[in-house]
Amino acid sequence: MMIQLTSPLDVHRWLSDQELNQGNCVHTLGFVPTMGALHEGHLELVKASVTQNHRTLVSIFVNPTQFGPTEDFDTYPKSLEKDLALLNPLGVDAVFTPTINDIYPSHLSDYSTEVYIPALSQKLCGISRPHFFKGVCMVVLRLFNIVRPHHAYFGEKDFQQLSLIKKMVADLFLPITIHGIPIIREADGLAKSSRNQYLTASERTVASAIYKGLCAMREAYLAGTTDAIRLKHIGLDVLKDTPIAVEYLEIVNSTNFDRSDMITPENRIMFAGVLGKTRLIDNMGLSQP
Ligand code: AMP
Repeated sequence: MMIQLTSPLDVHRWLSDQELNQGNCVHTLGFVPTMGALHEGHLELVKASVTQNHRTLVSIFVNPTQFGPTEDFDTYPKSLEKDLALLNPLGVDAVFTPTINDIYPSHLSDYSTEVYIPALSQKLCGISRPHFFKGVCMVVLRLFNIVRPHHAYFGEKDFQQLSLIKKMVADLFLPITIHGIPIIREADGLAKSSRNQYLTASERTVASAIYKGLCAMREAYLAGTTDAIRLKHIGLDVLKDTPIAVEYLEIVNSTNFDRSDMITPENRIMFAGVLGKTRLIDNMGLSQP
């Protein structure tokens, strides 16, 4: 039966009841951090965790420190009852729904401990959202320390975030294995996202151009085009007659996110843009989607 844990103390009590370490036999705990408003993208992470671990804990917490002052923290979609109903049949053992005060007991003041990776946090999404990756590292490290999982699951939808978390875990010697799960898309290719519900019907139709642009770049690469500027223009051509304002469309080294001039199969196409009031991100590998 799935249990709801509403405080870090609840999590500690639950963990001590789980007997995850029994002599030589370690029962693993898988962890899926989310901000709720769950969709099939989130559920894919959950299914991987349930399949690969003895216990799975999912957190639902809209993290204030990763939103800028003019962003959608106050209006971020919330649907806890529906989220719980989606998680229950998947075999999730516990859902952790902390308050802001639980995660940031020093009240988000200047006295809070901050964790971030300066060079990686200032590229791509970090340019328009300078606070974002610091907020992500701050919340994920706090959640890791409360939940103490063996395995944690993140989506490749947020590829830069996934890389940052892998780096933080390695740099700080956290005993957690990070798993990246491929992007789950709508039938027309739009990457599933909680924010897609902000789109109007006509914006929703237009939004699939992002996927089409990435596919056009990948296909051109596979057909022999290796010039980064040329590939970028192939993608921009697909988007140019749409109302999508491109924030960036770059082919980068998928470890340090530096722009690549010499394209290799390990490079990744990274996109961010704004459609109406909605910021959308997507990415694609050049050799594998
Ligand atoms: P969020 O609730 O948006 O913070 O997302 C929670 C986790 O779900 C993150 O690791 C995301 O990368 C992942 N995620 C969100 N959308 C998708 C998707 N379409 N496919 C795969 N993973 C996703």
